[in-house]
Amino acid sequence: MQRLAIVSAMHEELHALLPGLQQPRTVRLAQRDFHLGTLHGRPVVLVLSGIGKVAAATTAALLIHEFDVASLLFTGVAGGIGDGVCVGDVVLARELLQHDMDASPLFPRFEVPLTGRARFDADGTLSDTLHAAALRCLDIGSDQRPSAALAEFGIHAPRLHQGLIASGDQFVSSAAQSAALRAALPDALAVEMEGAAVAQVCADFGRPCAVLRTISDRADDSAHVDFARFIERVASAYTHAIVNAWLADPA
Ligand code: SAH
Repeated sequence: MQRLAIVSAMHEELHALLPGLQQPRTVRLAQRDFHLGTLHGRPVVLVLSGIGKVAAATTAALLIHEFDVASLLFTGVAGGIGDGVCVGDVVLARELLQHDMDASPLFPRFEVPLTGRARFDADGTLSDTLHAAALRCLDIGSDQRPSAALAEFGIHAPRLHQGLIASGDQFVSSAAQSAALRAALPDALAVEMEGAAVAQVCADFGRPCAVLRTISDRADDSAHVDFARFIERVASAYTHAIVNAWLADPA
């Protein structure tokens, strides 16, 4: 069976998945620990990417070239910038773009020079099956939903969104920055720091990828919660629940 990579931006998320890894072995390369084994009988590599586009691109290229993964799933947290994209919601990328790419006037803003593209697609099949798994987990009453953790943060009815995720080497943390992003990219749902880099590398190698993000903040001035605690209690619980639901029943 072909190997799947599950890449986490945050170590809390990796640590939520690691205990389930069967026949684990670790290969260290380029300052990263690549954890090989099986999850639900499926060969996987789990790895922490590091933060930002370069770290994510290095990780994705190594996963494909050194570990020959057939597909990649990137999980992490993101700031919600789309209307109605709230803390505790989940966003599944259908397209990804680097919001800090700007070689204008030589090339249109956002276009990756010499590729002719600004937007890179997430894989349709991977994303469809993840969407189904995420819905099963977010469904009210589902025992997979991390409801105690949600209650702790006052999150009641988390929703699943899918569409454009914008990535850049910048933690977006002011209302002015997120308003500027919204004006330039009206269809962007969320902002983070890695996804579009992974999508570009995967496009170069012709490998499918998917990006799944829990919304940790609204990318504005209000530091809403303890970021680290949110990751540990909510985002990691989501990643764990959705990835396990997906691998247990990928149809
Ligand atoms: N304080 C954290 C660092 C977080 S960096 C720590 O010490 O570990 C932000 C991470 O969360 C990145 O992986 C990025 O992809 C994502 N992220 C969440 N909210 C974001 C926002 N508003 N802007 C950009 N990235 C965000």
